[in-house]
Amino acid sequence: MAATDVFDDALSRLERIGREAGIDPDVIAALCQPKAVLTASIPVRMDAGNTRYFTAYRCRYNDARGPTKGGIRYHPDVTRLEVQALALWMTLKCAVVGIPYGGGKGGVVVEPKTLTPMELERLSRGYMRAMADFVGPETDVPAPDVYTNARIMGWMADEYETIHRCKAPAVITGKPIALGGSLGRDEATGRGAYLVIRRYAERRALDPLRTRVAVQGFGNAGYHVARLLQKDGYRIVAASDSKGAIYSEKGFDVESLHQQKNETQKLEGVYCHGSVCELVQHQRLSNEELLELDVDLLIPAALEGVIHEGNAGRIQARTIAEVANGPVEAAADEVLRERDITVLPDVLVNAGGVTVSYFEWVQNRQGLAWTLEEVRGRLEAVMNEAFDAMWEEFEGHVRTARAAAYGVALRRIEETLRAGGDRAYFAGHGGGRGGPGR
Ligand code: NAD
Repeated sequence: MAATDVFDDALSRLERIGREAGIDPDVIAALCQPKAVLTASIPVRMDAGNTRYFTAYRCRYNDARGPTKGGIRYHPDVTRLEVQALALWMTLKCAVVGIPYGGGKGGVVVEPKTLTPMELERLSRGYMRAMADFVGPETDVPAPDVYTNARIMGWMADEYETIHRCKAPAVITGKPIALGGSLGRDEATGRGAYLVIRRYAERRALDPLRTRVAVQGFGNAGYHVARLLQKDGYRIVAASDSKGAIYSEKGFDVESLHQQKNETQKLEGVYCHGSVCELVQHQRLSNEELLELDVDLLIPAALEGVIHEGNAGRIQARTIAEVANGPVEAAADEVLRERDITVLPDVLVNAGGVTVSYFEWVQNRQGLAWTLEEVRGRLEAVMNEAFDAMWEEFEGHVRTARAAAYGVALRRIEETLRAGGDRAYFAGHGGGRGGPGR
């Protein structure tokens, strides 16, 4: 999908669901554009001596419910509009899980695998220098996303602290544990997705032992959700990375797959260069073919827009759990619904990441370090509560699980915005003389 379309697509879905859910049009209007977007050009001295310039973005989409929060993506296809779409989804996601954040996002247009570790460090520190007045523990708190990781967050936190001449670990989450990161953050997105799938399976009386799963994108989120599902007996029959997919009807051992991917990496930097395609005893497929496999559960865990009008009619899975952000385009929602395929939406399924990021921020601000058990227990409570709120709405009157999750989020945002007075208050009563009314 073209970049313009990602944001347009996100807005058209928001407007449609908002209308159907009876959300105040003023609230939807408030969510139709970002509060602020900063674009910067980051000069990076390359190892060869020349200087390259990288375009970077940071978007604070909506902060009605708290400081904006969202990852930083390093990818050659990053655009301002993609960052805006991701930031809008973050706004909804934080509201779905009921944490006191608004939505933000960032990105750099770069193919990070071509950079050396020192070039990558200079780029990351340059990003923070460009954004240092735009982000902050009380305003906008970045985190990792595609092709960024804990080490990069550590560099950025250090750069922010150098600029502001103070320790401020709460400026960024997903840091290394030694620099104030939280236990459990690395697995949080996958674990959150696993908790959602587990609760859904309970509600639908699905048997894990009879459930065949395909995972597109065997990165941080994809690996952890596959690992946890396999522990419960789910059969992981397909997995992929950017280079292609593998399929085995017998199923893969997720830990071996993970180990293989790590072992084949060249230790040239902080990125995994290995490919799951290098494993033996499997059938090779393209990423597109993986999506259309005859499986029970399909987990897109890579990039947005992979399921669209063109292939939605060929999806055979009965359930799709959106671990990636925006993997299903708005036009495909209706096709999948008509075909009775349940889509568990990104704003719920992958919210475990931002939830544990929130825990990290809370710990940093309080000077505490929770145990892994405490983090996992709190995450489970948050995810279960969010799932139940979505499910209650879904079973009530709403057409799709996505509309149910959006309904929960939009009503929470509506409540916050209305606390300052709504249209009826200003036009009907409060605008006249005679005091503030009730
Ligand atoms: P990651 O960089 O760890 O992994 C991404 C994976 O996707 C890699 O295995 C990569 O090879 C693969 N990939 C890249 N392009 C692909 C393509 N065209 N087809 C198939 N696979 C491809 O990233 P991640 O953190 O696991 O993020 C994955 C998705 O989850 C993204 O949509 C991200 O926004 C979303 N997400 C991540 C987090 C988090 O905390 N990491 C939180 C919420 C949502």
